[in-house]
Amino acid sequence: MEVARRLKAIPPYVFAEIGKKAAALTKAGHDVINLGIGAPDQPTPRHIVDAMHEAIEKPINHQYPPFGGTPEFKKAAAEWCQNRFNIKIDPETEVTTLIGGKEGIHNLIMAYIDQGDVNIIPDPAYPVYQTSTILAGGEPFYMPLTPENNFLPSLDAIPATVAQKANLMFLNYPNNPTAATATLEFFEKAVAFAKKYDILLCHDLAYSEMTFDGYKAPSIMQVKGAKDICIELHTLSKTYNMTGWRIGFAIGNAEAVKNLAKIKSNIDTDIFRAVQQAGIAAFEGNRDHIDFCNNLYIERRDLACEKLKELGWTVTPPKATFYMWLPVPPGLSSEEFCTKMLNEAHIVVPPGNAYGPSGEGYFRLSLCLPKERMAEAFERMKAHKFTFEMGKAQVC
Ligand SMILES: *Cc1c(COP(=O)(O)O)cnc(C)c1O
Repeated sequence: MEVARRLKAIPPYVFAEIGKKAAALTKAGHDVINLGIGAPDQPTPRHIVDAMHEAIEKPINHQYPPFGGTPEFKKAAAEWCQNRFNIKIDPETEVTTLIGGKEGIHNLIMAYIDQGDVNIIPDPAYPVYQTSTILAGGEPFYMPLTPENNFLPSLDAIPATVAQKANLMFLNYPNNPTAATATLEFFEKAVAFAKKYDILLCHDLAYSEMTFDGYKAPSIMQVKGAKDICIELHTLSKTYNMTGWRIGFAIGNAEAVKNLAKIKSNIDTDIFRAVQQAGIAAFEGNRDHIDFCNNLYIERRDLACEKLKELGWTVTPPKATFYMWLPVPPGLSSEEFCTKMLNEAHIVVPPGNAYGPSGEGYFRLSLCLPKERMAEAFERMKAHKFTFEMGKAQVC
């Protein structure tokens, strides 16, 4: 059976090999610690689960939901944005539901990228920006995120010829995988850039509430005039521990929202109404559990910083996300280091190059396991001499 060219065009998934090896080690009876998970380990808050129980009993909710979301969900989403970011969003024309952020990214690309079109994306990045661009027949243009520029892209480095050709650009702050954050001033520059070249700018704000030490992440919609050229993707996955529920929403430029909704209405039939009602309960509930989870991530982050320092790493505690983006020991490639971690210490960490070419030289560590389990991982690293200097020893 012959598959479509677009399927064959998807680049090999660097993490797939490691995943297979990890499964084999587990099967052979080894205790593998997975520090590669990018999903909350805590359950969905009680009041959201309760709202779902109630909603599922109502026969009206068993029917097809309306395209683009129920009016109640869209209104609650717009109000949440108003309260959180002090931005005015029209629930009728400037909001559309998403079956998670991932789906939103894919379908936005389907709506804006044709064969040969350019999508300007960060590198490293959440892999969907790249793969969906390739599925659409488009060409990703990578903006390298480097420590010299605090993992923000240098917009001046984008050639004018590329910018003139591009239809779409993605940004994502707080960032996966680097944990970097962006200021409103940076977003202002990005909006000006998008306006200059008439590029739809999509900001993926998946980690808006996962912030620490008093830091609050801005929405790109806080930039004056952002609605002229921007769309922003939100998801309840990380904020409300709802990864399995598949619920998110897009806000911003009415035309972009309409185009995204048009593509979607031809592909999916929106989010189960009962899940949308649970989403409303999430928006309207208090923030206690968000604080609770952020405190858990802070404890884990601080433990990781302390232990990694002992092993020779120089680390700056991230202000947001449940990731840490760390250099691999000099002398080893990302894949060499991650393969050794798995084979010798039975610890899974994804190699940086799985997120784009500029991720080479890094690995991502996530904070999605209990502190005790993370402590065990660092003990193992110590026992197996996984220090920042290990690569040098190997070269000799
Ligand atoms: C987790 C994540 C998403 C979306 O997750 P969904 O569960 O599909 O909502 C989108 N972007 C980034 C950068 C993420 O890390």
